[in-house]
Amino acid sequence: MGLMHRANSFITRHLPVKLARCQLTRPVASMTFDDFPRSAWTVGGPILARHRARATYYAAGRFCGIAEDGLDYYNAADLRALSAAGHEVGAHSHAHQMAPTLGSKALAADAERNAEALAPLLDRGMSSYAYPYGEVSPRAKAQMGARFATARGIRSGVNAGLIDLAQLRAVPLEHRRWAPAEIDAAVVQAAAAPGWVIFFTHDVSESPSPFGCTPAMLDYTLARLSSAGVQTIPVRQAMARAVFGGG
Ligand SMILES: [Zn+2]
Repeated sequence: MGLMHRANSFITRHLPVKLARCQLTRPVASMTFDDFPRSAWTVGGPILARHRARATYYAAGRFCGIAEDGLDYYNAADLRALSAAGHEVGAHSHAHQMAPTLGSKALAADAERNAEALAPLLDRGMSSYAYPYGEVSPRAKAQMGARFATARGIRSGVNAGLIDLAQLRAVPLEHRRWAPAEIDAAVVQAAAAPGWVIFFTHDVSESPSPFGCTPAMLDYTLARLSSAGVQTIPVRQAMARAVFGGG
């Protein structure tokens, strides 16, 4: 890792862009899917339903209706169906480029393009955002933190105490580094704080991409949350509870 990259990571970690004191009196969880491959809905949806869990699907407009690198991505009908089932559609940029590589104008234009592309398919605007590849910079945090209610990164950990709404922490649920003990630890930590634990993954398949998970992994995580008494709700609703209280 180069010096500039390390310096940028340090500044991003320590810059308080949008901090809120966690008001939770009971723990809460969010399950999130990035990009997102169709299987996150077609395979993941029934598993979520079985656990009475509602998720956030972060959609990048460029992926709508396409297949790429062996993955089928969501289509317009999927967005409508999952919204109707009570899940949230979040924003994930349109072009799916790393936010720090774009200038301010390009970053704003890309977010706007995504909003315009998906608006006809949604009942409400997208207020939750996830950084493509989890890549952030102080400037991207300031910009996306101002535009969206929340922006989710990929720094692992539970959101508790002072929550950074411009870079929410999230725990990976990835086939390439599946570690049930880490899932268990995150659930225990969220229950104890009490805090808000967010998981992130991509496709859900018996033979997932390295960044996706199997149905069993998703089922395991949701079961751990249920048995710890942690409700799984979309990011938008969890944010409201964490920031404004009320459950
Ligand atoms: Zn992505």
